[in-house]
Amino acid sequence: MRAPAPDSLLAMAAEAAAAMAAGAAAIAGRHADSVDREARFPTEAFAALKEARLLGLMVPRDFGGGGGGLADAAAVAHALAQKCPSSGLIYAMHQIQVACLVRHGQGSDWHRGFLERLAGEQLLLASATTEAGIGGDVRSSACAVEDETGAAFRLEKQATVISYGQEADAILVTARRTADSPPSDQVIVPVLRGQTQLEEIGGWDTLGMRGTRSVGYRLVAEAERAQILPLPYADISARTMLPVTHILWSSVWLGIATDAVARAAAFIRAEARKRPGTLPPGARRLAEATAGLQAMRGMVRGALAQFEEAADNPDRLTSLGFAVAMNTLKTEAAEMVVRIVGEAMLAGGLVAYRNDSPYSLCRHLRDAHSAPLMINNDRILGNTANLLVAHRDNGSLFG
Ligand SMILES: Cc1cc2nc3c(=O)[nH]c(=O)nc-3n(C[C@H](O)[C@H](O)[C@H](O)COP(=O)(O)OP(=O)(O)OC[C@H]3O[C@@H](n4cnc5c(N)ncnc54)[C@H](O)[C@@H]3O)c2cc1C
Repeated sequence: MRAPAPDSLLAMAAEAAAAMAAGAAAIAGRHADSVDREARFPTEAFAALKEARLLGLMVPRDFGGGGGGLADAAAVAHALAQKCPSSGLIYAMHQIQVACLVRHGQGSDWHRGFLERLAGEQLLLASATTEAGIGGDVRSSACAVEDETGAAFRLEKQATVISYGQEADAILVTARRTADSPPSDQVIVPVLRGQTQLEEIGGWDTLGMRGTRSVGYRLVAEAERAQILPLPYADISARTMLPVTHILWSSVWLGIATDAVARAAAFIRAEARKRPGTLPPGARRLAEATAGLQAMRGMVRGALAQFEEAADNPDRLTSLGFAVAMNTLKTEAAEMVVRIVGEAMLAGGLVAYRNDSPYSLCRHLRDAHSAPLMINNDRILGNTANLLVAHRDNGSLFG
């Protein structure tokens, strides 16, 4: 018998991870409405994820973690997002930071010790890239690592959006390497809760993804220079942060679309049972939404397989073709989730439009609309357009 193809190996691993997350996802679902209504952190879901030791899922076993890969983390984020998109997105954002540490932070005692703590104590990691005056341009920082001559440093950032900043045990902050560095000469620094002061400078009363509590803070950290990841942020971004972010975010959006289509399908089937022999009028929209979901699923799985194949090859990870593929995944998936939820809503009609119906898609639609502006699609399309000036697609079926 032939060995399973890499894509099906990924699927098998992911199924096992999703099964491990089933309990936490069910809990996330029970509290999703109150998390959304009160714009509060999903405490119950994260207690369950910690209990199942899923925060350390991608930390290697040598450090006490689960030894899982990106497909596992994507499967957990997808399972959570079907029940509570804010929980799924928080899990995804945490695992993006874990991936950066695992792939680029095993070279020093401080980072190895931190990975052990992460797995042992199930630490929750947040991220501060967005900055006042710079917005979503992640490859540019105004703040800088200061006092760079000694063993300690100080860092101050006007971080206009940090999801679950209050609940996080550590925050990975992007900053210029030194006070004299240009905006694009950046490093990434994990700073611990006890090393960081957070002063609120903005709230989080938004249309959707309300449970992420992505409040604005003036962040002031004093920490050890040994904590700074040695590889330039430009390399960490190209090799890990950008592809992992786009794959995990897309997995969350796929989870939203999956549940929206499932709710629409349940409604259409219930209607069909009421009038045997007649096709409910919304059934055609359900077919459309299902087609979109299938295409989206294929796209996310394809990107995952592409990343896994290139994961240990820095040349492939930093190639223009790979960057175009990962950018395109983000912009397409972000548009698809909005479109699919919209089609599912048309299939359901008023029952989907109502807040108080079991087929409601109101929260799905609100949460989905965060996707195109989470690092704005227009900004990413602009980057892709620049890359395409230099890169020619090879036209192959398998990219
Ligand atoms: C749910 C959620 C959670 C988040 N969590 C975090 C977090 O934990 N940490 C964090 O650091 N950030 C976080 N963010 C912020 C996010 O990653 C982006 O940085 C942010 O959405 C960008 O905000 P902006 O639209 O105000 O800024 P900008 O990106 O500056 O965009 C402002 C406007 O300018 C336009 N624009 C800007 N540049 C271009 C361009 N080159 N071409 C065309 N148009 C352009 C955009 O289209 C947009 O209309 C989160 C965002 C969301 C929605």
